[in-house]
Amino acid sequence: MKCAVCSRTAKGFGYFNPRLPRSDPRRYSDRWVFCSMRCQNAFSRLMEKSGGHMIDPSDMELAAMASCLAPLGDYVGSIGMQRPLADYRKEEVLMLVEVVVTAYQEHMLVEHERIAEKDRAFFEERLSRQSQRASTGVPF
Ligand SMILES: [Zn+2]
Repeated sequence: MKCAVCSRTAKGFGYFNPRLPRSDPRRYSDRWVFCSMRCQNAFSRLMEKSGGHMIDPSDMELAAMASCLAPLGDYVGSIGMQRPLADYRKEEVLMLVEVVVTAYQEHMLVEHERIAEKDRAFFEERLSRQSQRASTGVPF
């Protein structure tokens, strides 16, 4: 299982939506698992602020990927910008992967924490944009 915030391996931290009755299946999700109390807290505060609505993480994931570019460039620059990837030693490839994954995870966590600090109006705007996007599909 992967942490719902940062995608690290989840370690027994969970969440349920206390706003919903015990009989409501939406109260629980097997995807609401976390690697740490920090991620669990960020998610929990986000759910409180948004009134229990999930915010589509895809924009956040795209931004997290973009946040990897600078550390990736720094690392490649540090070991020789002109070297082809095929000439990298295994340790250098693993370090490259670690640089990217660490930057991605940190961005996802910090962004969850930042959004959790935002106010109600912000969530209503995000959620209405999300439902507009969902309703532009083929109407079956
Ligand atoms: Zn996490």
